[in-house]
Amino acid sequence: MRLYENEAKTVFEREGIAVPRALGVFERAADIQGRIGPDSPVMLKALVLVGGRGKAGGVRRATGRAEAVSLAAEILGRKIRGYSVERLLVEEAVEAVGGAAYVGVTMNPADFNVTVIVSPAGGVDIEQVARESPDKILRIELPGNDEVLPEAEAARLAAFLASGLAGGAVQADALKAVISKVYAVFQKYDCKVAEINPLLLTAAGPVAADAKIVLDDNGLYRQSGLFHLLGLTTARHDVSEPTRNEVRARVAGFRYVDLLAEDHKKNPGKLYVGLVPGGAGYGIFSIDEVANVGDRFFGGRVVPVNFMDSGGGPTVEMVAEMFDLLFDYEAVDLVITSRFGGISSCDIFIRGLVGCLRERRKAGRRVVPVFGRMVGTDLPSARDFLEKAKRETPEELKDMHITVGNQKIMAEVIREGIRYAFDRKGWT
Ligand code: GDP
Ligand code: MN
Repeated sequence: MRLYENEAKTVFEREGIAVPRALGVFERAADIQGRIGPDSPVMLKALVLVGGRGKAGGVRRATGRAEAVSLAAEILGRKIRGYSVERLLVEEAVEAVGGAAYVGVTMNPADFNVTVIVSPAGGVDIEQVARESPDKILRIELPGNDEVLPEAEAARLAAFLASGLAGGAVQADALKAVISKVYAVFQKYDCKVAEINPLLLTAAGPVAADAKIVLDDNGLYRQSGLFHLLGLTTARHDVSEPTRNEVRARVAGFRYVDLLAEDHKKNPGKLYVGLVPGGAGYGIFSIDEVANVGDRFFGGRVVPVNFMDSGGGPTVEMVAEMFDLLFDYEAVDLVITSRFGGISSCDIFIRGLVGCLRERRKAGRRVVPVFGRMVGTDLPSARDFLEKAKRETPEELKDMHITVGNQKIMAEVIREGIRYAFDRKGWT
């Protein structure tokens, strides 16, 4: 679970790291007016859970009220890498007298070693520094998972920073203290990442101008104190950088992964296929199989768009929401589905699908053809329900083609679905 910058700064400040003075968090530009002096320099920072805000125009410096209000209006109206900016953090601008450092603590996923990374080339993307000037990075792994950063390592890291940073030498002790505190934050709050970039050297010492904390979801049960501190009542959906669909699925309680980037531009010559598979393994398989059938029989003009998995025993409502999500996804031309009823019931599956289609048709909402197969648990009652439903509302269910039982393999069902969608588009 990633914290917003203002939350991360609250944590760092609590542990004794200097942060810029916050003037507030705002949803409307006009509200800033009364909080800023006529000439005060301030930083306006988009509160979104993605990195690289600076480059995307989400971090601006303003001098005085008038400029702050107009820049705030600009930032609040924009999107940062697909995410609309709804809140803005306003802080007193920090005046750096020396360089900008990077200080980060994370974990090496290969061996779980806590890893401290520092660089005197802060402020920019640390991956870029790693690629272009690896000599400007010092990375130390701590196999002992020490609760406190050992003195020798802290001294080495601080000396490396102090010697590479303009104005660093006189602040070496303060840098060492900050590094140790970031490490302590990482351990105390069960973090996956605790990072300051940039750490600016000011006349009063190092100040964390930006702050990033990603909590390990598996450790949240130990963090009620943190939740209390930040006024959080429930865990937020984890977002390193999820897409809108992924967030929606997370809220609804099923697993979903977009295979296309959020800003993917649809290729008008290709068919985009959404998948509602029965189970995680089948979900992975059907991604390959849709691509495979597309390559063999349709000139490679077929694009699977998602992975999805309900987990065992979804409710009717959840099944409906799984289809709803794909019908709402404008790129999708066709949905391929399969219910291999083991733990899950065919009966619940077909009720979810039929209910979803009926509601959407009634409301005049977007629907695309659905092709699929169901077999397994509760098949007899599922078949009865499906036949009755088609008799009752044939018009609402006309684009739904569900094969009942095992007489066809999924590859055939997929091929028929794609053929049908191609025909509708007038493609050969
Ligand atoms: P990010 O791009 O999402 O990492 O956002 P940052 O908070 O790091 O802001 C981008 C850049 O703005 C930083 O790298 C700094 O160069 C600059 N910046 C942010 N806050 C301050 C500040 O208080 N004072 C000054 N002088 N620069 C700042
Ligand atoms: Mn930053």
